[in-house]
Amino acid sequence: MVVVDLEKCVGCGKCERTCPNGAIKVVDKKAVLNRDLCSECGKCVQVCPTKALSIEYTSTHVRLAESYGWRGGGCGRGRGGGFGKKRRGRNRCGW
Ligand code: SF4
Ligand code: SF4
Repeated sequence: MVVVDLEKCVGCGKCERTCPNGAIKVVDKKAVLNRDLCSECGKCVQVCPTKALSIEYTSTHVRLAESYGWRGGGCGRGRGGGFGKKRRGRNRCGW
């Protein structure tokens, strides 16, 4: 689940321009997320210059990751860890 820290958001619009699903818009100089459209791809998190965006993992994500045999510990990208497991030099989570 993508979370916006409104204190950090400066309304630059990079997230809006990057999102492939039109799930995030800048309204009154603050990013606003439409969770119904968000696929949690993480692209907005990567481009935000102020680190106002993060992905928080829910217990559902953890169960799903475990069902794939991914271990916790983080892939080193994004806040909230990740479920990446190094395989052939690439993080399994794709980040
Ligand atoms: S990229 Fe970051 S700072 Fe810029 S509008 Fe989006 S959330 Fe705000
Ligand atoms: S995580 Fe991906 S789909 Fe969701 S708002 Fe960010 S760029 Fe758009």
